[in-house]
Amino acid sequence: MTHQPVMHRVYIGLGSNLDTPLEQLQQALQHLAQIPQTTLKAVSGFYGSSAVGPGTQPDYVNAAAELHTQLAAHVLLDHLQAIEQAQGRVRGPQQWSPRTLDLDLLLYGDECIATERLTVPHPRMTERNFVLQPLLDLNADLRMPDGRAVQALLHQLPSGGLWRL
Ligand code: AMP
Repeated sequence: MTHQPVMHRVYIGLGSNLDTPLEQLQQALQHLAQIPQTTLKAVSGFYGSSAVGPGTQPDYVNAAAELHTQLAAHVLLDHLQAIEQAQGRVRGPQQWSPRTLDLDLLLYGDECIATERLTVPHPRMTERNFVLQPLLDLNADLRMPDGRAVQALLHQLPSGGLWRL
């Protein structure tokens, strides 16, 4: 008997505010397309967003990607972190440091995951218009695993600091 592989629909958030961010995102998408047992299905528009947190930082470029993968969530995270490393991300001393590339595993099917390395849905995604707007580009009817509509969550957030590139 042959087993059909289980395919998971996954959404990734991409962000960069250093070293030509637009090119960083384009390069990251090429890397995402090369992850084994995984297909890059769609890419959102690209957005500019003002940096959050203390101090002055360059604006970010943000986007989201839809992948279909047979990989377990932790294995996919390994690949995302390898791509971040390959693109020269310098992990700064504090949480809000500028970064060449940040890849977040936002949604992994309808699963909720809480381990030391991985929290899915990504814990801060519902507070960030620069995450939710690109997601809605990919799927206007998208819902969180608990049933909340992403469209409604976005309406609850301040709309500033985000522009389509
Ligand atoms: P950050 O510096 O904000 O990109 O956080 C990176 C750390 O968050 C890594 O140590 C990951 O193991 C952890 N992490 C937890 N949940 C997630 C997630 N859903 N996507 C990406 N990284 C995650």
